Amino acid sequence: MARYTGPVCRMCRREGGKLYLKGERCYTDKCAMEKRAFNPGQHGQARARKPSEYSIRLREKQKLRRFYGILEKQFAGYFHKAARQKGVTGENLLMLLESRLDNIVYRMGFASSRAEARQLVRHNHFQVNGKKASIPSYLTEVGDVVSVKERSKSSPKFKEMAEIASQKGMPAWIEVDYEKMEGKIERLPLREEMDIPVEEHLIVELYSR
Ligand code: SF4
Repeated sequence: MARYTGPVCRMCRREGGKLYLKGERCYTDKCAMEKRAFNPGQHGQARARKPSEYSIRLREKQKLRRFYGILEKQFAGYFHKAARQKGVTGENLLMLLESRLDNIVYRMGFASSRAEARQLVRHNHFQVNGKKASIPSYLTEVGDVVSVKERSKSSPKFKEMAEIASQKGMPAWIEVDYEKMEGKIERLPLREEMDIPVEEHLIVELYSR
């Protein structure tokens, strides 16, 4: 399935909650969920039917997939990888998604959304452990250092993002040095540190059927 290129706010409206796909706009009253928090489309405001068990689980999976901007097949790959790991499958899945390079760049504050982070990574503005890293789905590990490339450090864009990000709180599991424009992954995030609005056990149930 091709990547969705339509209006992204529709996805939040479809999933019934903010997915924070548009950067700063998501935190303002211009957010579509502030004014039109109902399903998109002609019959969006019609009285909804009671969802089936399957549909509740499916929507939870779609919500998480859209939150990280991942295609169906790749998402299923993450799930199967998480299921093979030790521990709780749902949490393993979230940790795998959190360790994607585009997500780390977003979490470090060098992009206002995961979509922007993905584009910046593809445009070769970042390195992992001093080596080229232009694949957004690259899975980082504990101890990895993600940095802005030397030639990109002078860009006003990164200087501005570093200044804004340094004033915000950063995740406790990434140690970010805004002077050097780099961050070290200190440890895996805990579930309560991942502000992901999903009930991951429903996704596990969906794939376990
Ligand atoms: Fe979702 Fe952000 Fe659009 Fe609001 S502004 S509906 S949170 S993408």
